[in-house]
Formats: sequence, structure tokens, C-alpha cells
Amino acid sequence: MKFDLTPLLRPHIVDLLPYTSARDEYTGKEGIFLDANENPYGSVTDQDFNRYPDPYQLDLKAEIAKIKQVKPSQIFLGNGSDEAIDLLFRAFCNPGQDNVIILPPTYGMYEVSAGINDVETRRVPLTEDFQLQTDKILDAVDQHTKIIFVCSPNNPSGNKVNREDILRLIQEFHGLVVVDEAYIDFSDEPSFTNLLPEYGNLLVMQTFSKAWGLASLRLGMAFASKAMIKILNRIKPPYNISGLTQETVLAAIKNVDKVNAMIADMLQERDFLKEEMAKLDFVEKIHPSHANFLLVKMPNANHVYDDLIEEQIIVRNRSKVQLCEDCLRISVGTRAENVAFIDALKKIYAESFNL
Ligand SMILES: *Cc1c(COP(=O)(O)O)cnc(C)c1O
Repeated sequence: MKFDLTPLLRPHIVDLLPYTSARDEYTGKEGIFLDANENPYGSVTDQDFNRYPDPYQLDLKAEIAKIKQVKPSQIFLGNGSDEAIDLLFRAFCNPGQDNVIILPPTYGMYEVSAGINDVETRRVPLTEDFQLQTDKILDAVDQHTKIIFVCSPNNPSGNKVNREDILRLIQEFHGLVVVDEAYIDFSDEPSFTNLLPEYGNLLVMQTFSKAWGLASLRLGMAFASKAMIKILNRIKPPYNISGLTQETVLAAIKNVDKVNAMIADMLQERDFLKEEMAKLDFVEKIHPSHANFLLVKMPNANHVYDDLIEEQIIVRNRSKVQLCEDCLRISVGTRAENVAFIDALKKIYAESFNL
């Protein structure tokens, strides 16, 4: 089914002429390059960084396409997933006029990015067990609703969202459905990327920041129809992914075995952390997790958070977030880190709360 994005786009984006960079106009790798005002001698560093990188990251996309079973033309790469989120607002949402729907508790960046772009956010909370209220979501849609953001596995709750519910949104909402799969590598759930050929209004986000251990390099992926990727490519800053990032990730992808081994270790540690916390009387609830963190409910969570910091153990305080009252979000660490965390928690409760 062909999906026409044009009516969804902001009018000025439809005919926008993108910047054509020097490396757009000539794409060969050999030659005397006197086109981009670069330093011809090299760099002051040991490694040379004097040439502008490939603006469309074609070598890297070819490898990502293989491991993700998509076509290179269905891939957009951003300076973190956050860049893709921002570009979606800029392409589709008219400031002061359009709106997007978010499903709290969820990743904070959707709302921040909406705010930066002066776009209204409509909030339709998840259920008590962090699933979608699909009827209410569809009721919240009006003719100015451009995007619904779904996060699965969800941050900060950790659960996966029912597939049929997401599918219903994709089928019944005629704007864009973004499925943020930042934690998919820790889940047994198949990616929504296999539905891309069917649905032109679907965009799936993944990242190298979590399972791949490359957060500092800043590389986020968006998978969508060729038409959608073309739009993102037209409005992105020309050289948004550094050459160092492109080269490093290209090498990393050839090491899938190592990633899989690290994921297996993290899942084992998640189980360990869960089992150890389940033994603690004061722990009220450990939410089921398909991610590399646990959302845990405990009395006086806000205080416990502060006391943990005194011990130089930093977790994420979600205790004031709707549906996460008295909850901390704990990233899975190494065995030693997890043990240190459990010991500190026991000590805090014994000393501060006499439990
Ligand atoms: C961590 C995270 C991301 C990743 O962001 P990057 O900018 O790629 O590092 C995206 N979405 C969610 C829900 C996350 O938790």
C-alpha cells in the first residue's frame, strides 16, 4: 500500500531545496580534492581527520542493512536517536498549530523536543501495567495530530508493549507512528521493522547507545519507507555523523558475537539483580523488564535515592513520575556493581528506616 506523506508534511518542507555539500556533487573516493577547503597536510592528531565524512554514511548503512534485514534506503542515521526525533518535529509539525501524542510514563525526549519546536503534547497515560489505552489514544487524535510516540520496551517501566495494540494505532491513525525500540536488543520481541513494507506511516528507532555500548559515539538509527528517509536526509545537517563514528561503528558491526555475549551477560545480571531484590522485605514491586534496567517500587524512594548518592551509587529517581510513584530505575551493572548496590540498599534501610 502506497502512503502519501505530502499532506502530513509542513508545506515549506515539500519543495525545500537542501544544501548540496562538496561531497554530494562528487562521490568518487580517488582524486585531488580541492573542493571543500580542507587542510591537505592531515591533522594535528596521530590519526587524520582532515577530510569531511560521507554525508549519507553509505558504507555503514550497507552493513547495518545486513544485520537489521532492511534496505540501505530505509535507514536514516542521526547524532543519537534524539536527532531523528527533532527532525521529525521539524519536518511534520507546524509550530503553534500541530500536536503529537505521548504515552507517559515514557522517554522524556519526545516532550522536550516538542517543547523546543513549539508543538503541543497530548498525554494519554499508560495503564497500571504500562500498556496502551488504544481507544483513548485514538480519541485524543484530531486533524492536527501528526505523530504518536510509542516506546517498546518502554523506558522507564521496562515492559514490552502489546504488539496488537501498536499495530492498531499504525492501522487506524493516519499520521506517523514512531516505535522507539532503544531496548529491543534485550527483548525476545521481533522488531517492527518487518512491517515497514506494509505501512508507510511507521518509523522505527533503534540506537547503538545501549546494547552495543557505544553511547559516547552518538549513533541512532531510524528505519522507515524510502520516501520518509529521503525527507529526513533533506533536512538534516549535512555532516551529522562524524567520520570517527562511522569508521568505529563499521568495525564494531563485524563484532556481533561480542555484542551478543555482552547482552547475554547483562540479561544474566538482570536476573541476579531481580532475585537479590526480591529477597528484600522492603521492596514492594519489581516491574517485569525486557530492557537492561529494573523499575523497582520501595518505600521512601526519594530518600533512598539521596542516600544512595551519599554512597556514590547513582540510580534514576522516577519517584515523582505518574504511575512510577516511589520507584527507582536501576540500570543493570556488572556483578560487583550490582552487589555494591544491593549492600548499600540494605544498609540504608537498616540505618534510616529500621526495616
Ligand atoms: C536511551 C534511549 C534512546 C537513545 O538515545 P540516543 O540519543 O540514541 O543515545 C532512545 N530512546 C529511549 C527510549 C532511550 O531510553
